[in-house]
Amino acid sequence: MSAARATELRTQLRAWDRAYYLDDAPVVDDATYDAALRELRALEAAQPELIEPDSPTQRVAGGVSGGFSEVRHLLPMLSLANARDDDELMAWDIRLQKLLGETGEAEEPAFVVEPKIDGLALSLVYRDGLLERAVTRGNGEAGEDVTANVRTIRAIPLSIDDPNPPALIEVRGECYIPLEAFRRLNEERLNAGLPVYMNPRNTAAGSLRQLDSSITAERPLSFWSYAIGALEGIAFGSQSMALAWLSERGFPVNPRIQRMVGIEAVREACHAIERDRESLDYDIDGAVVKVDELALQAMLGAVGRDPRWAIAFKFPPTTRTTKLLGIEINVGRTGALNPFAELEPVEVGGVVVRHATLHNEEDINRKDIRVGDTVIVQRAGDVIPQVIGPVLEDRTGAEQVFRMPDDCPACGEPVVKNEEDAKHFCVNLRCPSRDIEGIKHFVARSAMDIDGVGEKLIERLYELELVRRSSDLYALTVADLLPLEGFQETSARNTVEAIAASRARPFGNVLFGLGIPHVGLVTAQAITRAFGSMERLVEAGVEEIAEVDGVGMVIAEAVAAWCADPERQVEVAALAAAGVTLTLSEDELPVEGPFTGMTFVVTGTLAGMSRDEAHAAIERLGGKTTSSVSKATSYLVAGEKAGSKLAKAEQAGVPILDEAAFIVLLGSSS
Ligand code: NAD
Repeated sequence: MSAARATELRTQLRAWDRAYYLDDAPVVDDATYDAALRELRALEAAQPELIEPDSPTQRVAGGVSGGFSEVRHLLPMLSLANARDDDELMAWDIRLQKLLGETGEAEEPAFVVEPKIDGLALSLVYRDGLLERAVTRGNGEAGEDVTANVRTIRAIPLSIDDPNPPALIEVRGECYIPLEAFRRLNEERLNAGLPVYMNPRNTAAGSLRQLDSSITAERPLSFWSYAIGALEGIAFGSQSMALAWLSERGFPVNPRIQRMVGIEAVREACHAIERDRESLDYDIDGAVVKVDELALQAMLGAVGRDPRWAIAFKFPPTTRTTKLLGIEINVGRTGALNPFAELEPVEVGGVVVRHATLHNEEDINRKDIRVGDTVIVQRAGDVIPQVIGPVLEDRTGAEQVFRMPDDCPACGEPVVKNEEDAKHFCVNLRCPSRDIEGIKHFVARSAMDIDGVGEKLIERLYELELVRRSSDLYALTVADLLPLEGFQETSARNTVEAIAASRARPFGNVLFGLGIPHVGLVTAQAITRAFGSMERLVEAGVEEIAEVDGVGMVIAEAVAAWCADPERQVEVAALAAAGVTLTLSEDELPVEGPFTGMTFVVTGTLAGMSRDEAHAAIERLGGKTTSSVSKATSYLVAGEKAGSKLAKAEQAGVPILDEAAFIVLLGSSS
């Protein structure tokens, strides 16, 4: 059970990581993310055999997006472990004292306490005093080369102000947008009729990763230096000495950084930074405590992705109060009725909030949130605002308790409650809101990526009965669009062409676009790779679908049920008739080879190759790889520290190959 939960958490965290680090568009708040990561950590701590080397607990998340070249860091860029409160900070100090005691260090170490800037980490490499390269953290081992963009940031020196600069010095720090500049930027956008940016962190990340440096140059990016990495021709004794050196040579070093001895002083310094939080011109989400002496840092080392010598003391998320004007309902593409709060606009952490999510009726009533209440709104992780609860002292008695309607607000059909997740659903499979949301999903970037077909147009086309299902889009003509507001000959033609071009979207994106419950893009791609065509997928049973890497029983059942639905079959046939890609292209097709028909599971650590390389070698020979052992597994390839999968394979009588045997098999088959 816990193994399945761990897999589920890992898959979820990776998807959130991609949205956060690669798309700069997080889909959940940090508190939700952190809770999932903590749960995974706890599971892995209880059952260490569940740990996989590429688990989000072991590796720095992030990656390298297309468009930038990938550069390996001279030294890995790690993350930070968190302390949520004083007790966790104290517990970290006790662990530290113990470790230092074991290494013979009796004295209490000095600490440096720094504000934790909420931006994105950068590594700046200076050779002979000149800025040679600037790289994002990426996955910690390698990041994106953003040198051209970083050269446009005025706070970052292009050369070191020193007549005898070291042969090499890597300066690390946080790139961010000051809050005042962020407000101005949004004001300008509002005036220009452009959508405003959500928050400074994501805007900073997006700005730094522009392919056109002149766009980056227009964004008010800034920088705080907080560490040194690789060095040649210079050495430092401590973090505080390194920061002083940097500051003297023109690097921006935050003035609130302090050195001190004793955890009590550290605790006070963390709270002092927290008290000042509101008055700062940049977002911070905590304080970072570091052991000052670099030799001690080296001795303490790291565990997984977190150094032992530092900890992030996280602050609670930003909150504000405002009036709850009403509770509205949006009917999603699965038919779920999603309540959301209509708020009197309020600024939370530099962003104006007008709406906030309210999960379901039970949650609203459990928190006793009533329409007309003064409510506490939180932007945790600064993405989706949430209503935490009412301010009871402000109640007048005129507030209204919320009740889900008995009928769907979009179509008037009855609403039923799903006891499992306490969500309400519209029973009407052809509810217009459901259909419209489904079409919006179909045209989205990760799905069919149809430019020029936005939400408003979809709603209008639906109203006019020109488009009732996604497949109807392909029948649209220039003449259909011309009478609509905002269309002229050229724009109408471009839209029709954009729709036609989407026929060539890869099968994985199409499957994702169909909006099968629980099927995200990554899952859709895995399914298309496993089955090759829609035809094959429709024929497959639940069991066979559940065999696909990353797909569990819940997803498999949802896919099978979707495929079995006659209405969906009509839609699939219509898409096929419109020429939409419903098979893998030649170069995506699995190869035929000596391993065709065989399924492998690779577990543990292999000495000579990474797991990805092993998977690629198997697939090159026509084999399939999955993550879980079953009777259908042909071979388990077991490296060092193979855990529960090895035991399961032994139990199920699956042949086991050690690394040497695997290499022999590869050699004799290629
Ligand atoms: P982190 O932000 O908790 O800590 C490490 C980072 O802190 C460093 O890489 C650096 O960028 C930054 N930092 C700022 N000031 C610093 C200083 N003075 N010294 C050293 N580092 C400093 O860890 P992370 O791995 O970057 O991100 C994980 C966090 O990001 C999660 O805990 C979560 O809150 C958030 N996150 C959210 C989502 C989401 O979908 N909402 C997804 C992924 C991550």
